Amino acid sequence: MDLEEINTVAVLGAGNMGHGIAEVASLAGYDVNMRDIKDEFVQGGYDKIEWSLGKLADSEQISEDEADAALDRVTPLVDLEETVADADVVIEAVPEKMDIKEDTWTDVEEYAPEHTVFTTNTSSLSITDLSEFTDRPERFCGMHFFNPPIRMDLVEVISGEHTDDATLDIVEDLADDFGKTPVRVRKDVPGFIVNRVLVPLMNEAAWLVDEGVATIEEVDATTKFDIGLPMGSFELSDYVGIDVGYHVLDYMHEVAGERYEPAPMMVEKVENEEFGQKTGQGFYDYEDGDGADVSMDDDLFNETVKERLLAALANEVAFLVGDDVASPEEIDTAVKLGGRWPKGPAKFADEYGVAELADALDEAYEASGHPRYEAFDYLATVAEEGGFYDQAEGDAEGTPDFDTLEISYPGDMVGQIELSRPQQMNSISLELIEDLDAAIDLFEEDDDVRAVLLTGAGSKAFSAGADFMSIAGGGADPFNAVELSKYGQETFGRLEQVEMPVVAAIDGYCLGGGMELATCADIRVASSRSEFGQPEFNLGLLPGWGGTQRLQRIVGMGRAKEIIFTAERFPAEEMEEFGFVNEVYDPDEFEAAAVEYAEKLAGGPPLAQRFTKRAMLKGWDDSEAGLEVESLGFGHVVGSEDVHEGINAFFGDDDPEFEGK
Ligand code: NAD
Repeated sequence: MDLEEINTVAVLGAGNMGHGIAEVASLAGYDVNMRDIKDEFVQGGYDKIEWSLGKLADSEQISEDEADAALDRVTPLVDLEETVADADVVIEAVPEKMDIKEDTWTDVEEYAPEHTVFTTNTSSLSITDLSEFTDRPERFCGMHFFNPPIRMDLVEVISGEHTDDATLDIVEDLADDFGKTPVRVRKDVPGFIVNRVLVPLMNEAAWLVDEGVATIEEVDATTKFDIGLPMGSFELSDYVGIDVGYHVLDYMHEVAGERYEPAPMMVEKVENEEFGQKTGQGFYDYEDGDGADVSMDDDLFNETVKERLLAALANEVAFLVGDDVASPEEIDTAVKLGGRWPKGPAKFADEYGVAELADALDEAYEASGHPRYEAFDYLATVAEEGGFYDQAEGDAEGTPDFDTLEISYPGDMVGQIELSRPQQMNSISLELIEDLDAAIDLFEEDDDVRAVLLTGAGSKAFSAGADFMSIAGGGADPFNAVELSKYGQETFGRLEQVEMPVVAAIDGYCLGGGMELATCADIRVASSRSEFGQPEFNLGLLPGWGGTQRLQRIVGMGRAKEIIFTAERFPAEEMEEFGFVNEVYDPDEFEAAAVEYAEKLAGGPPLAQRFTKRAMLKGWDDSEAGLEVESLGFGHVVGSEDVHEGINAFFGDDDPEFEGK
């Protein structure tokens, strides 16, 4: 089957996942038959789609017409025969119970046409077992979306034992056409990729506390601020639901053995129905306490914790690679997208040293004898080879290899810094700021670079702003936020200070922190499809990386206030009128035109450029004082209830209600 032959997609289940998947499919232009077992359930899902499409239209991500057309393509149904009779692909998202899935698939097989491809969104059940409820197990595979499907880019496409390659190919094409990134999971292993990595991590964290190695506070401080994951291990557990993690773990325990024995703490939480955020109580207290307020105090960092957690990750990655389930690159892509990690587990393990982690695992095994510390065979091979990735990375000329940026030399005397987190719309993480700092050093020291070109990877965004998950996530520490604000102000400000011209070339969204970064360039050129804005007020925040000071110098106080106070999006042409954008180009000629512009400046007189930049910067009023107030103000609001409300509303696609608290 070719993609062109797929017109109708049947989605079974209109719950959390089903309605989201139906929305994604209809937005991609497919006719969608969405089925639930009762009118009210399917209508509930339909209403949620209508609401969510309305939100997308309100925020101008799609037009009103596109929203109406997408809704028109969704048919809510209860009758199963009608749902699947003309379906080319079925995506099943009914409750995670084997008996319900068995009944569903038995019925679907009866009514679906011969050619229809079957997929399941199960998180933990065996794809092979499910496929055997049908008469076409070769045309059956996993299509595992992440919650919420409309926002999460990853789809794990999982092969069952009987699945043929053509089925995996077409389902990957479909996921791609839905605008998602498919990652193939070549074997039906419990947990697939993302859960296989995240769930043992959360379990190891619980074991460490159970065995008295560290406290919850220490484990989470280490996970979040020493290792650098977006959330603490316990914070993550509470966020996804301890019951949800437990459910996957329990299944892994049953199928894959004692190494996945759930830690006693986890069992206890599940027995007490303290599932985390959703019940108000988990490892943290969300009712009377502060929730997961993870400390960044480095006195709490614990090297044993770091090593054991990274060792647990490395061991799971070794299993997946060794068993040919996926490659290190595929695993890293999946976990970066599915877990919103700044880099993948294979990369984390390599950076720490796989040999050290393998030794740590052996020592822990000797000391505790628990099977979770038994290394998978392939880990030793990886340790011997020096890591999951070819260690000769980075190019031959010795250009350093950044995780969040790409460095290149696209034109005569032009050094290019490309923000390279395209799956996250090039959003700005702490690591990206660090990399930017290092990249500026690199060009400053390079006599052959006489102009800097700053761009964003992919065609969606220059940068859509700060990476909430890694920066302003729930419970952000105000002191940390002040420091973070200052660090961004200073690093972005280096573009103003660097003694050669800097051109920001903007194609797509240039929002929030991304716009503050672009503001520091000397010249801004944009494609006509670009959109600009400082949406911080929508979240109850203020621009914290120089936006309160630098923007007004370019567009004037009145326009700067308009941009910040309305939090609206402004098209490139309007920003050109405001004087923010120097040139607007057609998207087709944009890339070449931007390089040409940078080349022109690179050919200019370096000394005159240097002193002009210095003089203009010096000539500004007391922007230092302004930046100081901005960072303190940013720190003040970050811990406020309004920001909590704003961020929750953003992720829940809701309107925030601010109270000034
Ligand atoms: P849910 O309970 O929100 O929705 C399931 C829906 O299926 C309910 O509305 C139910 O009435 C309906 N249903 C029951 N029997 C049905 C049938 N025979 N035909 C059609 N509909 C039927 O559950 P969910 O969270 O959407 O999960 C659905 C599936 O997606 C599960 O397999 C789950 O493991 C998987 N999944 C969930 C998440 C998540 O975060 N919630 C993420 C990835 C995958």
